[in-house]
Amino acid sequence: MLIVKKFGGTSVGNKERIFNVARRCIEDYKKGNDVVVVLSAMGKSTDDLIGMARDINPSPSKREMDMLITTGEQISVALMAMAMGALGVPAVSLNAFQVSMHTTHRYGNAQLKRIDTDRIYNELEQRKIVLVTGFQGIDKYDNVTTLGRGGSDTTAVALAAALRADACEIYTDVDGVFTADPRYVKTAKKLNEITYDEMLELATLGAGVLHNRSVEMAKKYGVQLVVRSSLNDHEGTVVKEEVNMEKMLVSGVAADKNATRIAVMGLKDEPGIAFHLFNVLAKHNINVDIILQSVGRDGTKDISFTVSEDVADEAVVAIQKSFPKSEYKKIDEEKDVAKISIVGAGMMTHPGVAASMFEALYDAGVNIKMISTSEIRVTVLVDEKYTEKALNAVHERFSLDE
Ligand code: ADP
Ligand code: ASP
Ligand code: MG
Repeated sequence: MLIVKKFGGTSVGNKERIFNVARRCIEDYKKGNDVVVVLSAMGKSTDDLIGMARDINPSPSKREMDMLITTGEQISVALMAMAMGALGVPAVSLNAFQVSMHTTHRYGNAQLKRIDTDRIYNELEQRKIVLVTGFQGIDKYDNVTTLGRGGSDTTAVALAAALRADACEIYTDVDGVFTADPRYVKTAKKLNEITYDEMLELATLGAGVLHNRSVEMAKKYGVQLVVRSSLNDHEGTVVKEEVNMEKMLVSGVAADKNATRIAVMGLKDEPGIAFHLFNVLAKHNINVDIILQSVGRDGTKDISFTVSEDVADEAVVAIQKSFPKSEYKKIDEEKDVAKISIVGAGMMTHPGVAASMFEALYDAGVNIKMISTSEIRVTVLVDEKYTEKALNAVHERFSLDE
């Protein structure tokens, strides 16, 4: 079997944990399997590197930022190779350049395009464990890029697809995918399985246990994932196309504090305005989430929408630059908001799920600022200070803790 195993930052956070991971990989290797291991940077070291950069320059170049933060993963793979060496097993560490993991040119949020597999196969043939840096890539000019925060999951899934691996295992600091973030909802329950579609929604809506693009890629290439703990042998959660159980009404609740609401007020109420507004944002590669347009009055209307906090200022500047001051009254930016979402494949066929969610929020005294829905999710925007209250109230309403 060819197994791709990915270990997150906490799982390789110190010497003891590094040896723990080394032993787990060696166990598979000694059974005769080919083992490819993707590692994240140790503990919170990516955050530390970002802090160092901001201390030197508050708005550093994106290229140098990627050059800096990819070093974390390089430390992990080199130390892991040494740990495996100390345990008497041959291992080789490879960075994105050495493997050749080709990405687009977008620093900080590059997309994987192609992975060369020759070098990895070569090393596996020599019976080495291959350790690959997560999160990083190279663009066509050999610049170092990164796949976005949490991107090591995507590296692992992409490698599993490219190598046609028999298994792809994502090891982390919790036992699997839960009905809500177990850090904030004490009664959250581990799911045995979940569909790609549900997991993709949850990951996109704030369940940071998997990078959303890793789920997208897993679905596209049919890579079945297992999310499980690196610290015990519990079974974990299988992420796959169809689940065996009856479709859950709501399989999970997610919160995302990284949201900003932008309201453009007093826009002309005429055709083409929404197109112009969102076209400007699209040109800046800014993803827009919930959109709300007010009913027109006195020939004007308001359009509000949410974007992720890190691109909010850029979005406002882009709008100011492309709309003459005379075409709107003012732009408001509200950063202290959070998105609360429920996700479940079963809600497609059950009316009233949204109403139950709104009732739970009403009972908890939490005001809803915006709403958006899809076939398998409902998202509301609330004041950020109510995030945990709202999360727990909604989780409880759907008896996810039973
Ligand atoms: P890693 O470094 O292993 O990639 P992450 O911190 O990226 O770990 O992801 C694991 C964390 O995701 C958990 O510690 C947990 O707090 C958080 N999390 C958020 N939502 C969920 C969820 N629905 N199920 C499990 N964990 C979740
Ligand atoms: N080290 C990177 C981060 O902290 C990538 C990852 O952990 O997946 O975002
Ligand atoms: Mg992660």
